[in-house]
Amino acid sequence: MTDTPRFRSDMTVELVKHSASDTDVLFAARVSTAGERSLEEVGRDPERSKGLINYLLRDRHGSPFEHNSMTFLVSAPIFVFREFHRHRVGWSYNEESGRYRELAPVFYVPDERRPLVQRGRPGKYEFVAGSAEQHALVGKVLEDSYRQSYAAYQELLEAGVAREVARASLPVALYSTMYATCNARSLMHFLGLRTKDERAKVPSFPQREIEMVAELMEAEWARLMPLTHAAFNANGRVAP
Ligand SMILES: Cc1cc2nc3c(=O)[nH]c(=O)nc-3n(C[C@H](O)[C@H](O)[C@H](O)COP(=O)(O)OP(=O)(O)OC[C@H]3O[C@@H](n4cnc5c(N)ncnc54)[C@H](O)[C@@H]3O)c2cc1C
Repeated sequence: MTDTPRFRSDMTVELVKHSASDTDVLFAARVSTAGERSLEEVGRDPERSKGLINYLLRDRHGSPFEHNSMTFLVSAPIFVFREFHRHRVGWSYNEESGRYRELAPVFYVPDERRPLVQRGRPGKYEFVAGSAEQHALVGKVLEDSYRQSYAAYQELLEAGVAREVARASLPVALYSTMYATCNARSLMHFLGLRTKDERAKVPSFPQREIEMVAELMEAEWARLMPLTHAAFNANGRVAP
């Protein structure tokens, strides 16, 4: 493994496995009235299907949105995963281990699009761009600090110290990798909290970096379940 630190500003999300479509919502919902025939009725009358999905979302009948599955491979800094793992319901996670493997020196440095200066009080923050000098300073100070902490990690490993102890020298800006599996209902709950969107009935103010991950996930999900995604937006981006 190369021990030269690398700096990144992006997050990556890859949809590695899925069984998720709008029809999964329909057959689950129609069992109420059609019983075991609900699967046969799935393709009938697309307009009614759209209306049914919208009704379920509007009236918060949530369970029909659980009969599907999406697995994402996510690469993001550890501080993003700390926020992510607070989402407990309808999510399964597996993350790379700092005990069982030597961690690669890949660190997060915000790019020039990331607003740097916070104004206002907790719960009512506003972020503004920041000056060119502030951006240059953030890049320099963070990169110096990452180089120093990775050198400390290497020094401890070379002295024979266990990986699980040596990793204490590393910052939460280190990139990690995880698989995250969810269903449309748990994803909608996550998106409602971790994206900022004008259509949201209940505004949220997420940290930009987890929002970057959320946006990439949402794009994949919108492609798989376009009717559900449209109904989510039309009903104020509130999970049913
Ligand atoms: C903008 C923002 C700022 C935040 N700031 C902080 C912070 O400063 N400090 C901090 O610690 N966290 C913070 N959080 C995390 C937040 O408190 C939640 O832990 C996180 O958003 C996950 O939400 P959740 O519990 O609804 O999700 P999930 O764990 O996925 O739960 C989904 C839903 O299931 C139900 N549920 C789950 N567990 C229980 C339970 N034990 N009892 C009853 N109902 C349950 C609830 O209805 C819940 O909404 C912040 C989150 C956001 C979006």
